[in-house]
Amino acid sequence: MDEKYHPDGIEAKWQRYWEDNKLFRAVEDATREKYYLLEMYPYPSGAIHMGHMRNYSIGDVAARYKMMRGYKVLHPMGWDAFGMPAENAAIESGVHPAKWTYENIETMRCQLKRMGFSYDWEREIATCDPEYYKWEQLFFLKMFERGLAYKKRSLVNWCPGCQTVLANEQVEGGLCWRCESEVTQKELDQWFLKITHYAEELLEYCDELPGWPERVLQMQRNWIGRSEGAEIRFPLENSEEAITVFTTRQDTVFGATFMTLAPEHPLTLEFSKGGPQEREVREFVETVKRQSMAGRTAEDTEKEGVFTGAYCRNPMTGARMPIYSANFVLMEYGTGAVMAVPAHDQRDFEFAKRYDLPIIVVIQPPENPLSADTMTEAYVEEGTLVNSGQFNGMNSVAAREAIVQYLEEKGLGQRSVNYRLRDWGISRQRYWGAPIPIIHCHRCGIQPVREEDLPVVLPRDVEFTGKGGSPLAECREFVETHCPKCGGDARRETDTMDTFVESSWYFDRFTSPQYDEGPLDKEKVDYWMPVDQYIGGIEHAILHLLYSRFFARVLRELGLVKDKEPFTRLLTQGMVIKDGAKMSKSRGNVVDPDYLVSKYGADTARMFCLFASPPEKDLDWSDQGVEGSFRFLNRVWRLVYENHGWIKEAKPYSGRSPSDRDLRILRQKVHKTIKKVGEDIERFHFNTAISAIMELVNALYQFEPEKREDSRGRSLFKEAVEAIVLLLSPFVPHIAEELWESLGKGESIVKTPWPDYDREAVVEEEVLIVIQVDGKVRDKVTVPSSMGEEEIKGVALEREKVRKLTHGKAVQRVIHVPKKLINIVCS
Ligand SMILES: [Zn+2]
Ligand SMILES: [Zn+2]
Repeated sequence: MDEKYHPDGIEAKWQRYWEDNKLFRAVEDATREKYYLLEMYPYPSGAIHMGHMRNYSIGDVAARYKMMRGYKVLHPMGWDAFGMPAENAAIESGVHPAKWTYENIETMRCQLKRMGFSYDWEREIATCDPEYYKWEQLFFLKMFERGLAYKKRSLVNWCPGCQTVLANEQVEGGLCWRCESEVTQKELDQWFLKITHYAEELLEYCDELPGWPERVLQMQRNWIGRSEGAEIRFPLENSEEAITVFTTRQDTVFGATFMTLAPEHPLTLEFSKGGPQEREVREFVETVKRQSMAGRTAEDTEKEGVFTGAYCRNPMTGARMPIYSANFVLMEYGTGAVMAVPAHDQRDFEFAKRYDLPIIVVIQPPENPLSADTMTEAYVEEGTLVNSGQFNGMNSVAAREAIVQYLEEKGLGQRSVNYRLRDWGISRQRYWGAPIPIIHCHRCGIQPVREEDLPVVLPRDVEFTGKGGSPLAECREFVETHCPKCGGDARRETDTMDTFVESSWYFDRFTSPQYDEGPLDKEKVDYWMPVDQYIGGIEHAILHLLYSRFFARVLRELGLVKDKEPFTRLLTQGMVIKDGAKMSKSRGNVVDPDYLVSKYGADTARMFCLFASPPEKDLDWSDQGVEGSFRFLNRVWRLVYENHGWIKEAKPYSGRSPSDRDLRILRQKVHKTIKKVGEDIERFHFNTAISAIMELVNALYQFEPEKREDSRGRSLFKEAVEAIVLLLSPFVPHIAEELWESLGKGESIVKTPWPDYDREAVVEEEVLIVIQVDGKVRDKVTVPSSMGEEEIKGVALEREKVRKLTHGKAVQRVIHVPKKLINIVCS
């Protein structure tokens, strides 16, 4: 054993050892409990960053701990390999996206290996591999068959810079999240997956996920956005038809004075056709189409609209209501038509003021009655109904029920539930993604690719100009094909799938990554799934997790998986912060994990990430913190180095608690630490686990050498040092392996069981301490026998009786007779 701790040699040595001996290979064993630990897989952007390092260090502790606990552990790693950066790189520097991606994977795999994470590398997958995406093409076909995948013309957010469709969450303040171009609207045929089919169930099951952070569940509930209300029909003037609206505030229906339609609503243009408003309406619709959804619905956006020339009637009052088209009404929500109640909806209020439309108060607040003439903003709370016929005097809650009943009786409407959740638009007009397996035939229409013709492989030879649409559409060899039905000339679909499709089932594929008879080997997926612990950033709280839950339901219906919920427990780790801000290239506050590993070693880097803050909190970067972790590992090294010679020879500790008080206290500390570290790891309280180990190390440094001459003392010291090394091993596995070997152990620490604590040893002995003030007995207190003089003094001074007697006096000295008495001398 070297006197000095040299991480580089040690770390390379053990990484090789683990790999050569396949210690992290996951093997199914029905007789043993399984544990599937998964960290969200990375995008191969080119390098591992501190966020990855933190995420994977957290996961590795849990995985290694469970291995030592005797579980069969699956801890895989792979690559979310499709996506725009690869294609942007191709446009900018001419490197093919595949080359760029696989080179990055190569680099990042090396970086991860240098960290010593316990991955089963034999299960590595890259989602851009046709052997992977062919199965999601199969899922698409199955969903198409069942009506769960469909095509529809729809307005999408369009980035003129990237020439692609953006999801709503990729639009930040009206700008493209990637290139910051102003986002516009464009009408395109798009493929959708019908996640709304499962809206109710996805919502209900939020209550069945006790292992998820409540915050994430709440975000999912809000995203699904269930609201109960009513559908109300407003009859059109001079027509048998009616416009149907959805509202959660049917208690305000008497105050509806006009109707607003989304500009995309087909009736908007129809109403104005041939009338004097036609041109104005047409121009308005065109203008709005060019604006982004986010821009249109922002609170401070000017509420604009145009009269369509048509009228409808309020079904309750019979009042005539002009029909407008308004920029803030979206086709996507409800029915695309909104009954406008200006007195009780702020957007309607602003609109009514601007276009001089009537405002009728129908809800009065408990105090300060409203008047339509003097209102400066809408009153949106609940209250008592007025101007509402037979419903006057009711409160809003009772009125909502009474009115919906009335509507149902009269055939004017009915109860209805609405969801905010929209179907998932998966079409991307990009090259670097999984092709959608569809063929367009001008005779037969949309035809699915035959299953036996899968995969539809992404062609390699395409041109990247960065202009126009997808490079795939320009690739004749890809586009030109034959119709699977009539055999005639046909065109392939050139849209590729959203990369969230790949990440919606990769965790299933990890259970049987090389299986080629189907997407999943049933026996293996049934053994490993669901994921017992999933770890990733809060930025994936909604989409990725919701899509994965949706896919689990689809795959279950296809008979491929057995569970509805893919992730039993979820941990969302915090960000890595430096100089008060999230680490990012643009801020220039990035710390390169490679630098850390080269300078201090992987163990120090891991230790810092795990010790500096609890996993779910933000981690504040500090150079001192890194230095501190390194110093601690050196201290552990020295402790073992100075004693390993005789420890190897010492007898293992056995028998009951030692009679010697110091020995007894030390033994108690050892076993309390074992207990605490295990419990803390289970709860992901890694920082407190590490500090408990640090305290035990300190205690051993204070343990006087002469006590070790006694053989029981030596045995106890041996027990303590071995415990420290074992307890540290999930956090800092390389140094732990090396020290374990130096202590004369033959077997890798990975194969060594986690230590059990001695239940008797952790029971705290208590002693009764007599408290004197100036030599007179004033009080008594029971304290743990391990409590030291300073702590006992603190307890004594806090006692009510003692406080009264010492009030205003300075304590001159304290006399302590261990386990018996403490005398506080004031005068
Ligand atoms: Zn862009
Ligand atoms: Zn055909």
